[in-house]
Amino acid sequence: MTINSIGFIGLGIMGRPMAKNLIKAGYKLIVYDKFAKTDDFVSLGAEIAKSNKEVAEKSDIIITMLPNSPHVKEAVLGGQGVIEGIKKGTVLADMSSIAPAASQEIYAALKEKGALMIDAPVSGGEPKAIDATLAIMVGGDKEAFEIANPILAKMGSSVTYVGEIGSGNVTKLANQIIVALNIAAVSEAFVLATKAGVNPESVFNAIKGGLAGSTVMNAKVPMILDGNFKPGFRIELHIKDLQNALDTAHELNVPIQLTASVMEILQALKVDGMGANDHSAIVRYYEKLAKKEVRK
Ligand code: NAD
Repeated sequence: MTINSIGFIGLGIMGRPMAKNLIKAGYKLIVYDKFAKTDDFVSLGAEIAKSNKEVAEKSDIIITMLPNSPHVKEAVLGGQGVIEGIKKGTVLADMSSIAPAASQEIYAALKEKGALMIDAPVSGGEPKAIDATLAIMVGGDKEAFEIANPILAKMGSSVTYVGEIGSGNVTKLANQIIVALNIAAVSEAFVLATKAGVNPESVFNAIKGGLAGSTVMNAKVPMILDGNFKPGFRIELHIKDLQNALDTAHELNVPIQLTASVMEILQALKVDGMGANDHSAIVRYYEKLAKKEVRK
């Protein structure tokens, strides 16, 4: 199947650079965002649509990159939504991180119209969205995956098929649990080491190459040492992901105690007015309790 035009809905922190990479790769884009400015896409040769429906009518494949399940449901199933304009056999690639049950619901509604869907959430954050080196985890019918795969490959360095619809978001929930718990562990350990009088930068240099080292540690400790909590990945979005993880786990009778604990840390930070900070601000929770900041 030849893809000439790609519809892109949701031009936020992630969607904006992802869409720009598709333009760089030579595709014609039709873009739409309900709230964010789209002016910069005009000079790049993209067409600006007036609704999600118009995007669907004009595109050979549609990508959504929206905050959470209700936003994707509204954009796809709501009034003037994708479902009103999508052509038979067209693939919707939802790259947002949403509840797996929501992916299944949207997939079923689109299937009735003869359209296809994959859930293809990403890991890597804004820097990897800019560099087109995201890790993309895909659920859905193999046929839809094969159609979307060459386009996904223009936004990521790894595209992995993980199973039927919803599996991409199950994989992403696992990813988000590991990232949140890892940041909390790093925060707890670095506040302790700093209050014990050891330079936190030295602690980082000493342990980053050992078993405790991680991609999370390498990305977040430099931010913490600089006191730079500009997102990146907002605490509010991580609360959304952990809520989806808790709901999914409880439906399946899987207790996830550590996730629940870190969720309460994130909730406390939100109450403290830090919901829009990067999730590396988890360290602020420990710093406040211990009355010690982890800085250079
Ligand atoms: P964002 O809030 O910056 O962007 C979302 C965009 O969607 C906004 O511009 C908003 O105006 C638009 N939008 C909302 N409702 C809409 C609708 N009904 N129709 C059209 N547009 C609508 O969020 P983001 O950081 O780009 O994240 C997007 C998704 O990617 C989320 O699910 C997030 O969890 C996931 N994600 C984010 C990161 C990160 O580091 N920011 C990393 C991996 C995954």
